[in-house]
Amino acid sequence: MALVVQKFGGTSVADIDKIKNVAAKVIREKKAGNEVVVVLSAMSGETDKLIALAQKAADSPDAREYDALISTGEQITVTLLAIILNSMGYRAKSFLGFQVKFWTDTAHKKARILAVDTEVIKKELSMGTVVVVAGFQGVDKENNITTLGRGGSDTSAVALAAVLNADQCDIYTDVDGVYTTDPNICSKARRLDKISYDEMLEMAMTGAKVLQPRSVEMAKKYNVPVYVKSTFSDEGGTLVTKEDMDMEREIVSGITYDRDQAKITVTHVPDKPGIAAMLFTPLSQHNIIVDMIIQNASLEGFTDVTFTVSKKDLKDAQKIIQETAKTIDAKNVEVDDQVSKVSIIGVGMASHAGVAAKMFSALSAEGINIMMISTSEIKISCVIQRKYTELAVMVLHDTFGLEKKSS
Ligand code: ADP
Ligand code: ASP
Ligand code: MG
Repeated sequence: MALVVQKFGGTSVADIDKIKNVAAKVIREKKAGNEVVVVLSAMSGETDKLIALAQKAADSPDAREYDALISTGEQITVTLLAIILNSMGYRAKSFLGFQVKFWTDTAHKKARILAVDTEVIKKELSMGTVVVVAGFQGVDKENNITTLGRGGSDTSAVALAAVLNADQCDIYTDVDGVYTTDPNICSKARRLDKISYDEMLEMAMTGAKVLQPRSVEMAKKYNVPVYVKSTFSDEGGTLVTKEDMDMEREIVSGITYDRDQAKITVTHVPDKPGIAAMLFTPLSQHNIIVDMIIQNASLEGFTDVTFTVSKKDLKDAQKIIQETAKTIDAKNVEVDDQVSKVSIIGVGMASHAGVAAKMFSALSAEGINIMMISTSEIKISCVIQRKYTELAVMVLHDTFGLEKKSS
């Protein structure tokens, strides 16, 4: 008997018929003699609706109440699936984050999982129950409901697979695996049979929505093999696992994009020690993640500093940085919310020269201006105007020959 964790995303549970389809997939595992833990997201669009309601209610909704509200979408899907399974003669029980006890820190909207209790789940599994757990949510030590960041149900599933020592963690979604780039914007994208944790992590961190970055981090840490599969077909699938010999070691193996980007420039900043700390400390104190940073060469003791944040943090970041700009005597705070980031990913990149130049030439040949650049051993990212996102992805996919599998 194996223990299987199955996670279904928003489009897989979008209505009652789709939840019945999920029930069929659960029953198939039960009939194969396995123990099954299911993790569900909210119906697609539901979390967005709840966020919009909170924003309509107040400009800056209280974080505790906000999390309690936006976590409710998952309560609907887990209970519906349990109702359907019970009506079909299968014992099933739904559990919210605080009922399992998904312990997290107190960082509302992006809480980190600290521990997961397994007692309740193990007891139910031993009685043959299908355990249906609400993804995306946890509880902190003060008993407040927390959420794990957008796409967080993936992380709930991998965390459960890790603590339960599951044999399998299947992430069911609306595509049949991980592709060289988003198959919904590039028809030439190619499905990968296997991908290493490191490459998947870079892809997720630079925008490939298919897995939440933290879920990949956790899978790597606890060595959980993750299968990305389609809810709607039995074909395909991608295994996310440790790097091994038969994995492709392409120079570039994937292209990603992230439209959730905004750029802030602080002009005429006095160029002296301590200024960067003064600019960025208040942002980190407000839990705002800064992605790329560039500082122009100093001219007569002054410089411009440009950085990017997530679009959803832009309003808060702008407010905070305007305050800081005053205290450090900078001139202006300029904002651009029409940017995207495109990235090329590949473990083989570290040992090859000229990859960056090839990327920049390909973008410039299309007249796409590069505003910011950042590099790591296995990634190069460029910030560009948002309207060129799809074009950039397709051009880079062609440039690095990702359509064809190399032999
Ligand atoms: P779910 O609701 O099931 O969690 P998501 O929308 O979060 O699904 O993630 C699946 C989506 O990820 C796909 O529909 C696809 O558009 C997008 N995606 C982006 N990059 C990739 C990629 N490289 N491979 C597969 N899917 C990708
Ligand atoms: N429902 C949450 C979201 O939309 C979590 C998830 O889908 O993974 O972000
Ligand atoms: Mg998702």
